[in-house]
Order: sequence, then structure tokens, then C-alpha cells
Amino acid sequence: MTDDISELTARHTYGTWRAQRGWKPLHVTKAEGCHFWDASGKRYLDFSSQLVCSNLGHQNQAVIDAICAQAKELAFIGPSYTCDIRAKAALKMLEVMPKGLDKFFFATSGTEANEAAIKIARLYTGKHKIIARYTSYHGSTAGSIAATGDLRRWFVEPTGKIPGVIFGPEANCYRCPLQQKQGTCGTACADYLAYMIDHEENVAAIIVEPIVGTNGVLVPPPDYLPKLAEHAKKRGVLLIADEVMTGWGRTGKWFAVEHWGVTPDILTTAKGVTNAAMPLGVVATSRAISDYFDDNYFAHGHTYEAHPLTLAPAVAAIDEYKRLNLIERSAKMGELLGQKLKALAEKHPSIGDVRGLGLFWAVELVKDRTTKEPFNTPQDKAQRKPLVIDAVAAEMTKRGVTVLAWVSHLVIAPPLIVTEEELDEGVAALDAALTIADEKIA
Ligand code: PLP
Repeated sequence: MTDDISELTARHTYGTWRAQRGWKPLHVTKAEGCHFWDASGKRYLDFSSQLVCSNLGHQNQAVIDAICAQAKELAFIGPSYTCDIRAKAALKMLEVMPKGLDKFFFATSGTEANEAAIKIARLYTGKHKIIARYTSYHGSTAGSIAATGDLRRWFVEPTGKIPGVIFGPEANCYRCPLQQKQGTCGTACADYLAYMIDHEENVAAIIVEPIVGTNGVLVPPPDYLPKLAEHAKKRGVLLIADEVMTGWGRTGKWFAVEHWGVTPDILTTAKGVTNAAMPLGVVATSRAISDYFDDNYFAHGHTYEAHPLTLAPAVAAIDEYKRLNLIERSAKMGELLGQKLKALAEKHPSIGDVRGLGLFWAVELVKDRTTKEPFNTPQDKAQRKPLVIDAVAAEMTKRGVTVLAWVSHLVIAPPLIVTEEELDEGVAALDAALTIADEKIA
């Protein structure tokens, strides 16, 4: 039966960003807390909260109850009407969003939220250029993939994406794109984006992941985001913070921008907002933007916009984050996780860098610590070559622990309810699996 399910799924569904031939998806039959089980009864520790989204752990009861209750009360009413949950969800967002962001567009994914944010920025400013950064991911449709700096954009060049997006450097202190040294650079990467605005016409917005996610959990230096916000404001350019992955306690704050006291003009989010139990994307905008659309056509919308079944679990999830003190817990457990991962670096020559914040960490592998030469490049991934990082992740899966692997690093982001024993279980599997990479170092 399990073979049938996996085979039928592979034959008749596409899967997601699937590079390799012979995809045989694991048939999952049950999930609870930080674990899930396959059909043979094997248990896995979910050390990445799936796609960094099941922040409350699997099958959170309050979230599931909220979906069921809403389905019975009012499963759907079109977006030009309202219902109790629409008002309630907006009020609940106000409790946790950075102050000043008080009007929301509810979509059904992070991709759609970014798509809407780009459109809103263009409508509001009357300008069309968007500055994004190379090492970034913002989603898979024409606007959000156009703003994506990583290899996923290469497949749609040049026609499958909107025009008008230009790329600048990211803040990456391990591999500085401007060849600077941390501490003496004056955060030149933020200044370079200002230079870009000054040398372009018609820039509507800069879009950034406050902490770059899939592309390596790149935590910027402390002055980066405040500096960037100031550069943008001074030049009348909007700042869009993509918190699809970094929101909802992942980094030890409700939203990552809070680490640096920055309020963007637009904040997008998704994933943990409903604990991923229902597909919800959120665009939060400043009062200036919402005032503008009181007087101008808000030319955007969807049938499933502000869908009641997506809003009810969001309200329940926010209450759960609070009831379980998960934002504080993420900060505390994240420090522990960081210590444990850094201890591994002492032992494994293949670890080049360990970095993160809250329960959001990356372990980057290298062939050579001195030169930082990676085992594989983005080109290798785009060309569907076997990657060392995938072999390490597969070995962890064999050992009952799942993580995300991307080009040359692992993203480690367990549910915020994770215990210290579970951290040890995950780190032990990584410790064992890293032998594969260590052995490739001559
Ligand atoms: N933005 C960021 C930072 C993401 O990490 C992702 C997905 O991983 C997206 C946008 C796209 O969100 P979704 O997969 O919900 O469309």
C-alpha cells in the first residue's frame, strides 16, 4: 500500500522544486508535536518544522479545533462581505504586528503575499522598480520569483517573470559579496543598496528577508537593517520585509525586524501564522499606504482572499504562541541549539560556519575551512548534480531526523515547543551524518 501511495503520488503530482529523477515521497501517516511517522511506523524528529512552518508542532489541538468550528459556523463567504472571523483576525494581528502596521491583505501563501506587496508598492508609489538581493527567496510566481535572487529564478529567465526587478548584494558576513571584513566594513552592503537607488529612476521598493532563510540563515550585522530603513526612507523608497519564514517566533521575536527596532512600510508573512494547518499569507501595511488606498482603487483581490477557514486557525495559533510562551522559548532554546551546533564545528572539519538566531540555524559545509571552498555550487544544484549536502540530509533521515538542505548548508529549525532531549536527538543524528562530508575532505 505504501509503495502504491508513493508511486501514485509521484506519477500524478509534481511535488515541489523537485530536482532529481525517481522521486519517491515518504508516505506519512501520522504527526504529533515534534515528530511524524511513516506508514511502516518509523518515527522522525522534524528538525526543520517541515518548511519552517509548523512552529507550534504538529497537530496543535487548538488550531485544529478552530478550523473545525469555523467550518461548521461559516466555511466560506466571499471577500466583498465580512464575517466575525475577518474582524477578529485583523484585531488579533494588531496584537502582535510591529506597531504602525495596521491594515492587512489576507492571501493564501507567502508567494501571493509578496506578489501583492510588490503590486501595492507600485500602485502606492507610482514607480515600478523593485530592488531585491541575490541571495534571497520570495516565492514562485511571476512577481515573487522575479524578486528571488537564488537559482530558482534562473529557470524562468527572461520571460516567466515580471520586468523591473534589479539585484544588489545581500548582507553575508561569512561570504561577503563586497569582499569586506566584518567589523571594519561600515556595513557597505547597506550603503550599496542606497547607491543603487541613487543611480536608478523609479524605484518603488526594496524587498529583503530580514534574516535570509532557505539561502542560509544569514543574520545581518546589527546596524544593517536600521541603516537600510533610513536609506530607503530618505529616498522615498518603501521597505518590504519578507517575514514569511522569520515570523511567528522563529527568531526569538514575533517578527525578526523587532531585533533591530525597524518597522518596514510593508511586512509579508505566512507559514507559522496558522502553524501551516491552513494556507494563509498576510500583507501588513503602514497607515500611509492604507490612507492612500482610501482614496485610490485598491486594484487587487482573490476569491479565496481572507478565507474564513484560514483566519480561524491564525487567531488560534496566535493565542497558542502566547499561552505557551513560545516567543521567549524560541530565544532560550535557540541559544542552547546554537551552542550544541557550534560544539559540532569543533569536531567536524567539514563545517565552515554555524549561524542563527532563536530556533533558526544554518550549518554550512565546506571542503576547506581556510579557503571556504564549498562542496557544491548553485550551478551544481541547477544542473541536478548529486550534492554532498543532500547525502548528509538523507543520512539524517535514515537516522530518523529530517532537516532542509540547500546547495551547501542545512537549515535547522525545530518546532518552538522542542525539548532539550529532542535537540540532543537531532544534533546526534547530524553529528553522525557529517562523517559523510568529513570523509570527502582529502
Ligand atoms: N518568502 C520566503 C522568505 C520564503 O521562505 C518562502 C517559502 O519558503 C516564500 C516567500 C514563499 O512562500 P510560500 O511557499 O508560502 O508561497
